[in-house]
Amino acid sequence: MNESVIVVGGGVMGASAALALTRLGRQVTVLDQSEIPNRQSASGDQLRTFRLSYGKDAFYSSMALKSLPLWRELCEQSSDQFFQQNGFLDLAVQAHGYEEHCARVLKDLEIPCATLSKEDIRARFPMMNSRAFRFGLLHKEGGMLWAIRAVSAILGLAQRRGVKVRPHTRIVSVVKDKGAIKGLKDAAGRAWTADSYLFAPGAWTPELLKAYRLPLKVTLQQQIYIRPPYNRGRYRPEHFPPFFVPSQGFYGFPMHIHGFMKIAESRKGPTAKPGDAAEREITPQFERKVRAFLKRFIPELANFTESEGHVSYYTSTKDEDFIVDRLTGTANGFVMAGFSGHGFKFAPLLGQSMAQLMVGGKSDLNLHRFRLNRF
Ligand SMILES: Cc1cc2nc3c(=O)[nH]c(=O)nc-3n(C[C@H](O)[C@H](O)[C@H](O)COP(=O)(O)OP(=O)(O)OC[C@H]3O[C@@H](n4cnc5c(N)ncnc54)[C@H](O)[C@@H]3O)c2cc1C
Repeated sequence: MNESVIVVGGGVMGASAALALTRLGRQVTVLDQSEIPNRQSASGDQLRTFRLSYGKDAFYSSMALKSLPLWRELCEQSSDQFFQQNGFLDLAVQAHGYEEHCARVLKDLEIPCATLSKEDIRARFPMMNSRAFRFGLLHKEGGMLWAIRAVSAILGLAQRRGVKVRPHTRIVSVVKDKGAIKGLKDAAGRAWTADSYLFAPGAWTPELLKAYRLPLKVTLQQQIYIRPPYNRGRYRPEHFPPFFVPSQGFYGFPMHIHGFMKIAESRKGPTAKPGDAAEREITPQFERKVRAFLKRFIPELANFTESEGHVSYYTSTKDEDFIVDRLTGTANGFVMAGFSGHGFKFAPLLGQSMAQLMVGGKSDLNLHRFRLNRF
């Protein structure tokens, strides 16, 4: 009989790990408190950026590079093109170094990347106020991931290999005995047992794993979907890649669902608790901030009249490195958490690495930076 694993959380991390675990011969059950995917989870959004540019942090750039073929393979196997490589554009405003470091690291890793002058920006992206930028960096291997579709596709592949999926099963307690997890209890009082357990509950991690005191902070993140008032054709994904203005902390996507495009801020919002109904709406202050950003950098978008807000949660560590490790003092418990607002793009690689750690005690990817004992 194959060893069994329960995965708590059917977001992109739980789903990716479940698929990798079944490929390594484990019998896997995925439990989620809600539908999979669901809009409250960090993975439950239309789009996530896939960038290989990470300033001077070559470790993340090389992880993104390793993730590329894994995403392509998932698209192929699921026959859904949820990974769209329409390039990624970093836009430098001042000489503060981040974009220069990106260019150097991408070059060292032999990732093709073009430097765009103000004139190039004007010619390629006429909607942008090219005078506001010093230069741009466009790497064509980057792009965007259709997040909800990706989670469904990964879980679909996992289910085809026998993974059981149980939505609407909220785990409320973890039963421990002598350094091992003995079982889980759900909100309906049902007990769940397996040989080992993987926790990937996103923003709910601090609550579910309270006893382990993981140093995580949950923050509320606001995003706005706007409909370009003019020149809509210029914002189609084939003409307009996802972009990031690192010095301003704003990023955006081309037009997608129903002609709307997403603009969001990568900086952390206020501390929050997931599921707080009162916090579902975006604030007028955030909308004003978005308009001010657009007025300066993409002026023709600033006077949008049609928009819709969405609120979601980052679960962050202090150093913004992830947690992918065995739970301290627990022989058969593991955790994937703290993805600090930038984890989606690495999910297949991290899922595979976690599965290797659980099955063989070590992974091909060096997980040193993601260990719990660094805190
Ligand atoms: C606004 C925003 C923008 C982002 N942008 C990017 C980006 O552009 N690029 C990028 O790479 N990354 C980005 N990220 C980060 C990325 O989305 C996350 O790192 C990733 O989705 C985390 O996935 P997860 O599976 O860990 O968590 P989640 O997707 O949150 O999944 C956790 C799941 O666990 C379930 N759960 C929780 N508690 C329980 C329980 N007690 N019992 C059962 N089930 C439970 C939940 O219902 C949920 O489905 C962004 C994140 C946010 C919030």
